[in-house]
Amino acid sequence: MRHVAIVGSGPAGYYTAETLQKADDIAVDVIDRLPVPYGLIRTGVAPDHQSIKAVSRRYEGTALTDNVRFVGHVSVGSDVTIDELVGLYDAVILATGAPNDRPLDIPGADLGGVIGSAAFVGWYNGHPDFADLDPPLGAPGVAVIGNGNVALDVARILAKTPQEFGGSDIVAHARDALAASAVRHIQILGRRGPHQIAMTPKELGELGHLERASPRVDPADLPPEGDDAMLEPGMRKSVTHLRGFAANPVAKPVTIDFDFFAMPVAIEGDGKVQRVIVERTTLDADLRSHGTGETYAVDAGLVISCIGYQTPPIPGVPYEHGRGRFASDDGRILPGLYAVGWARRGPSGTIGTNKPDGARIGEMVLEDIGRGAGKAGRPGLDALLASRDVVPVTFRDWRRIEEAEVAAALDGNPREKFTSIEAMLQATGR
Ligand code: NAP
Repeated sequence: MRHVAIVGSGPAGYYTAETLQKADDIAVDVIDRLPVPYGLIRTGVAPDHQSIKAVSRRYEGTALTDNVRFVGHVSVGSDVTIDELVGLYDAVILATGAPNDRPLDIPGADLGGVIGSAAFVGWYNGHPDFADLDPPLGAPGVAVIGNGNVALDVARILAKTPQEFGGSDIVAHARDALAASAVRHIQILGRRGPHQIAMTPKELGELGHLERASPRVDPADLPPEGDDAMLEPGMRKSVTHLRGFAANPVAKPVTIDFDFFAMPVAIEGDGKVQRVIVERTTLDADLRSHGTGETYAVDAGLVISCIGYQTPPIPGVPYEHGRGRFASDDGRILPGLYAVGWARRGPSGTIGTNKPDGARIGEMVLEDIGRGAGKAGRPGLDALLASRDVVPVTFRDWRRIEEAEVAAALDGNPREKFTSIEAMLQATGR
């Protein structure tokens, strides 16, 4: 029997498990520190994007195969160490994602009301780590830093009416706080231009169909239309949306302004954020942004920095600090230790990008471990955890949690999530 442990039950973890479980004589343990599976599908993908979240049904199919087991509420690093796992399993695959925000390294970034997207997204998605975030929504202005899809998610969620959350699984604390929000002006700050955005067309197009909010683009920021021809097709579609927003400004009570060539250089306020100082930029021949010295202020009672994520390092595991991911040779970190997904390649691509990644790392592991080295595997982990009084949450337990969440859903919504680990454990009925 061959034994493989996957640390992290998000998309990268389950796509890898899907490939591994097709092999003979293999037992795969998918370990997660939360009592609930699916990682970013549950706590990262926006609550109003249920069609993307539906992929969890596929992961459930993998989780329910005989040779795959969910080991929830077990923290690698405290309940069990990486070295112990490497001793117990033929291969250990880190699928831990990139849950930490890249730091916003400007003066004032530590003021109250300056929040990273991991925290804000975790808050509206009910991640237990961020359930108590209580973001300040009492001022009309919000600055959203970054020109990626996360910035779009954040702006859209801030702009939606309570009715527009119908059919979503946004959690009650966020639903209530957003319904009472005073936010009226959302400013998306991009340090480069419309041709350098990292926003996909479907997500950008959604901003044009909001009930009470409308996107605004300054036509002067757009390059000549003929230049769009050199863009790849997806990017061209995105830029076409921006051109549409610029050409047809619609008056609605909430505005979402795209400030291009706008680099935040400082955040100011008396104890908490009141304004962002933004420097106008130009691009050099390599399309890098440079400050022009000209600055302006954006009034904001909340700043959400959406500038990318990083994987938290694990002591003893080689790490690339510049890239915020584990150091690996295309997935192989050390003998018996691998990385997959964002933990391997950094925070880029969509959920689907993890499918070929998981398949490839799964095949690589199968080839490397051969018939296995007679390691203790599952029974070994169970004995170790029992000796430490750690009781893992099983997939059956998770389904009880899920049933309770579905039963508590508002009419038309898929679920009402538990937002604390205690409540999740209680729902297992153990
Ligand atoms: P991202 O796509 O890497 O975008 C990060 C943005 O932050 C870029 O515009 C970048 O600008 C900017 N930035 C970086 N450092 C900055 C700084 N110091 N100051 C100002 N701006 C800075 O990251 P993301 O939005 O977090 O998304 C992560 C991944 O998840 C992406 O692959 C994304 O497509 C995916 N995602 C997909 C969906 C979806 O499909 N619906 C939803 C959410 C996320 P530069 O280009 O100038 O560096």
